[in-house]
Amino acid sequence: MNDAAVEKGKNTRLFFHLKKWLEKAVLDYNMIEAGDRVLIGVSGGADSFALLDLLDSRMIFVPKFEFIAVNIDMGFDPEYRACRALEQYFQDHRYPYVIEKTDIGPLSHSDFNRKNPCFLCSRLRRKRIFEIADEKGCNKIAFAHHRDDIIETLLINLFYGREISTMMPNQSIFGGKLHIIRPLAYLREELVKKYARERQFPAVKNECPTSENSRRSYIKKLLNDLEKDNPDIRHNIYTALSHVKSDYLMSKPKK
Ligand code: SF4
Repeated sequence: MNDAAVEKGKNTRLFFHLKKWLEKAVLDYNMIEAGDRVLIGVSGGADSFALLDLLDSRMIFVPKFEFIAVNIDMGFDPEYRACRALEQYFQDHRYPYVIEKTDIGPLSHSDFNRKNPCFLCSRLRRKRIFEIADEKGCNKIAFAHHRDDIIETLLINLFYGREISTMMPNQSIFGGKLHIIRPLAYLREELVKKYARERQFPAVKNECPTSENSRRSYIKKLLNDLEKDNPDIRHNIYTALSHVKSDYLMSKPKK
């Protein structure tokens, strides 16, 4: 880690609030153990910058670990402007990093896959991240999904996937060889975005043509509308995730 340089400017109330809850989530779900090598997914969005920045902070209770930042460029911009901005940021902070240029974006939007580009896109991107984790000897992959993403994913899976599930804060895959961790799991999107503005992370525009019309943006708008009548709706859904009454769910009828 890069203590002295990066701690500079990290002394606001918001920083301490977010770091406290990030540490709590990490400890509650045993996300990071001593000696871990964590591949941190940095898409260039505000949330991913916040994740990288917060993880590169002096932690009180989280054991020492190493990390590498990874960006998968989706190939939407032939001039790779986002890539260049990210590379500069990683170098300025002396972060170890991997930037991978791909054609996943255009491929996911090609004629044979018009119906649901996000499905193929996420699958291909995730596959490549798993491969990079393996190449770099990382046993954990940290994604910048926050509390609002977890709530929205529950509804996406319910509305479109016919199942009750969401993103887990610490998910074991490949028989425990790799873990996906979500250190922002307790943090509200609004505060993460506010922190990104406070820290003035370089804005990297999302060039994906689907980003404004995805299922996620539909669910986000829906929740915003419902919140006008029920301000607690997000909090209630999030709390319900730890309050599952399985006896009151339907089992499949026996044939
Ligand atoms: S919104 Fe665009 S970049 Fe994001 S998963 Fe969907 S297709 Fe991929």
